[in-house]
Formats: sequence, structure tokens, C-alpha cells
Amino acid sequence: MSHVVVIGAGVAGLSCAWSLLQRGHEVEVLETGASLGGRVRSKRVDGFPFERGARWLGAEPVIQDLLSRLGLAERSSPLEPATFVLGPQGLTAVEPGDAILPGEPLAAGPRLGLSGGLSRLTRALADPLTVRLGWGAESVASDSLGVSVRYITPSGERTVRAEVAILAMPFSQARALAPELPPPSRAVALPAVRYGLVHLGISEVLQEGDVRIPSLSGLDLAGWSVTRCAEGCALRVALRSEVAERLWAAPNSAWVDHVVGQLERTPVEKVDPVISLVDRFHDAAPESDGPFWSGRIGATGAAGSVAGAVSRGFILADGAGRVLRDRVIA
Ligand SMILES: Cc1cc2nc3c(=O)[nH]c(=O)nc-3n(C[C@H](O)[C@H](O)[C@H](O)COP(=O)(O)OP(=O)(O)OC[C@H]3O[C@@H](n4cnc5c(N)ncnc54)[C@H](O)[C@@H]3O)c2cc1C
Repeated sequence: MSHVVVIGAGVAGLSCAWSLLQRGHEVEVLETGASLGGRVRSKRVDGFPFERGARWLGAEPVIQDLLSRLGLAERSSPLEPATFVLGPQGLTAVEPGDAILPGEPLAAGPRLGLSGGLSRLTRALADPLTVRLGWGAESVASDSLGVSVRYITPSGERTVRAEVAILAMPFSQARALAPELPPPSRAVALPAVRYGLVHLGISEVLQEGDVRIPSLSGLDLAGWSVTRCAEGCALRVALRSEVAERLWAAPNSAWVDHVVGQLERTPVEKVDPVISLVDRFHDAAPESDGPFWSGRIGATGAAGSVAGAVSRGFILADGAGRVLRDRVIA
């Protein structure tokens, strides 16, 4: 049995920690933020269901197996929202596999949704774990006996010793903890982009589904999706990344006004939000770039091992570069 410190309570860190716990290892999870889930952030506000980050799971066996083991299989169902493209003639329904423009395919394979929101998954993973919220790691260093993780708690700085530290976060953040880490190939291929979402709770009733807006449209929006609820609709609007970059430092109200103004130029027309929320993502890749999350769960060992994660580079542990898998996984 090894003592493992997992840094980051996003879906990658939690699935990894959960998997290690199942195998009998002693695990603790440090999370700098005040809440679990990282880029998985379901939130219901005044009856409006908002998915403030990821919305779907890849339907790969590794995910289905994880959902079964967590007792969540019955909450999952295929996610096939009606999909529309906004063109000069208005909204046109499209099928999975259709492309908006050459090279812009719509869907990335079968997807699953989770009733009650995807945070059910991160909460279920966290349930048996020791997760220390508000504890941010500052550095990770290794020696012949293992690793030292220096971290900040609300009551001051501390250091914990472990056999392995797992850095479960985007590479750009992991490198700040252990500068000698070699970049995983994906981090090189996909530089971090800024990404922004505006969520509106509206009483107007819109067509449920996803709308994609081709980049040539001249609008600042990449698309929106509509989830109906008893109160009306939860409208999730994605800004183009260059627009998110431009608005980055502006107050949330400016983001909301901008989005409402842009929507007026679409078939949504005028909306008068009851609720508005803004999410800024520093190290995001647009979700249309592929099932990152599924890859991360697979890589971090929901069904596999730390070895898989090490080979993917998402688990960036033991600064000296020793092979961790022999020490962690039986
Ligand atoms: C808007 C949006 C929509 C998306 N939609 C989908 C989707 O529908 N399906 C899909 O498969 N993927 C989607 N993705 C991608 C998916 O959300 C991510 O791949 C996945 O959530 C990443 O999980 P993670 O645990 O690797 O990282 P994160 O979720 O970023 O978690 C990292 C955690 O580490 C913590 N942390 C960072 N530094 C420290 C430190 N020093 N000490 C302690 N804690 C630290 C952070 O606070 C964070 O909680 C989407 C992404 C975005 C931004």
C-alpha cells in the first residue's frame, strides 16, 4: 500500500484517487479551490439547471464501467440533443456526422448525459475520499524516499511526505509546481486558450437543443444550447475564444450585455434574463475539440492504473522522473 497525494479535485484527480482507494492505497486529495469538480460544475439556481463546464461524457466502456461501479449507470442516458446550425436562412437542423464547414464535424462519437448534472459523478467519486478543499499545492519535489508536497492551507504553509504525488491538472498549471516536468504531447499540440460561457436563466421558451454558429457568421458567439425547465430555459452561450480574450478583464455584466446584444441578432431575439452567470476558463480547449474528459478518466485509471496516467503524462509525479508505476500499482 502506498501513500499517494493527488493534487487537483477535477474529474481526472478524483477518478484517479478513487481508483487508487479501491486498490487499497492511502490517498489524499488537495484542491486549491473551494469546491470539487474543476471544469465540471453543475449548478441549479432558482430551478434553472446550469452545466457550467463539461456537459457530456464519452460513451466509452471505461466511462460506462465507472458509472456502474459508482451506481450511476441508471442516471446516464444517451445525449443526442437536436442540433442546429445558424446560417443566413436561420436555424437548420443537422445530423451527427454532418459538417458545418469542411473540417468542422459536429459530434465526437456517442455521448452520455447524467440526470441531475455531471457533478453527480464528481461528488460520487469524492464521497469515499479525503478531499481537502482550499489547500493549494505550491511545489512538489522528490528525493530517494518519495516526494514532498508543499502546500498552503487556510491556517498556513505545510509539507506532506508521500510515495507518489499525482498532478491532475492542465500541464500549464502542473509546470508551476514542478518546473522540470516534460510536457505531455497533447499540451504541446494544443496550447491553452481562453474560453468563456455566459449562462442565462430566461422565462422565454426556446427550442431545446444545441445551436452551432459557423466562424464565418460575423457573430461573436460560437453557439448556444437550451435546456428547458419548469421556469423557462437555461441558455448556455459560448463566446468565440478571441472574444473571450478581448472581454477577459471586463466585468460580468459587460459579458452578459454583450451576449444579450449578440442574441438579438439571432432567432433568439430579445431575452430578459432572470439569472445570469459567467464562466472564464484559462486553460480550456473548446469542447468541440474532442472528448478530453473521457481520455482523462481512462488515463487516470478509473478502470486502469496509474501507469496509464503516467504514460499519458497527465499524472506528472516524482520530479526526478523515476518510474512510478512499479511503486504504486501492484
Ligand atoms: C466549457 C467547457 C466544456 C467542456 N465540455 C466537455 C464535455 O462536454 N465533455 C468532455 O469530455 N470534456 C469537456 N470539456 C473538457 C473537460 O471539462 C476537461 O477535460 C476535464 O474536466 C478536465 O478535468 P481535469 O481534472 O483534468 O482538470 P480540471 O477540471 O481543470 O481540474 C483541475 C483541478 O486542479 C485544481 N488545481 C490546480 N492547481 C492546483 C494546485 N496547485 N493545488 C491544488 N489544486 C490545484 C484546480 O482548481 C481544479 O479543480 C469541457 C471543458 C470546458 C472548459
